[in-house]
Amino acid sequence: MSEKEEVKGLPVILDKKTALPLWIDQRVFPLQYYIPIKRIENFFKGLREGKILATKCKSCGRLFFPPQMDCPKCKTRDMEWVELSNEAELVSYTIIKVKPKTFGHYEDYIIAIGKLKKENINIFAWLKTSDPSKIRIGMKLKLVVSERLPEKYLVYEFVPAEDL
Ligand SMILES: [Zn+2]
Repeated sequence: MSEKEEVKGLPVILDKKTALPLWIDQRVFPLQYYIPIKRIENFFKGLREGKILATKCKSCGRLFFPPQMDCPKCKTRDMEWVELSNEAELVSYTIIKVKPKTFGHYEDYIIAIGKLKKENINIFAWLKTSDPSKIRIGMKLKLVVSERLPEKYLVYEFVPAEDL
């Protein structure tokens, strides 16, 4: 029995590894996660106030962004909230033209790593610019809170300092 014959009459394929027949369920379920955020709720409150918040371990001083409430080094939950500065420098970027299905409704977008000057940590975020041809490694960026369309959700992202 060849794979071709099976596909013709039935939603059945042969497993690539084992060659055993597999029934393809015809129901497709959208998958949406609900992630508990109670312990990092301050982060979202911060976005609404235009602030980008990280957590800092009170014991070793390590910064966590995106924020987390446990320090893996100190095995402690004794964290404080700190507002990040916004001056950064572009370390690396990629322009996304071929998008994952769930991001298909966005125009081409740029994902970037920027190093915050003051904190000396790397942040991974979208980089929004009116002119991608002006992007240069090392260019000055600002980390800002903005509204992502069409969802109208608050997000943090980089913009070139000269665009502000
Ligand atoms: Zn620590």
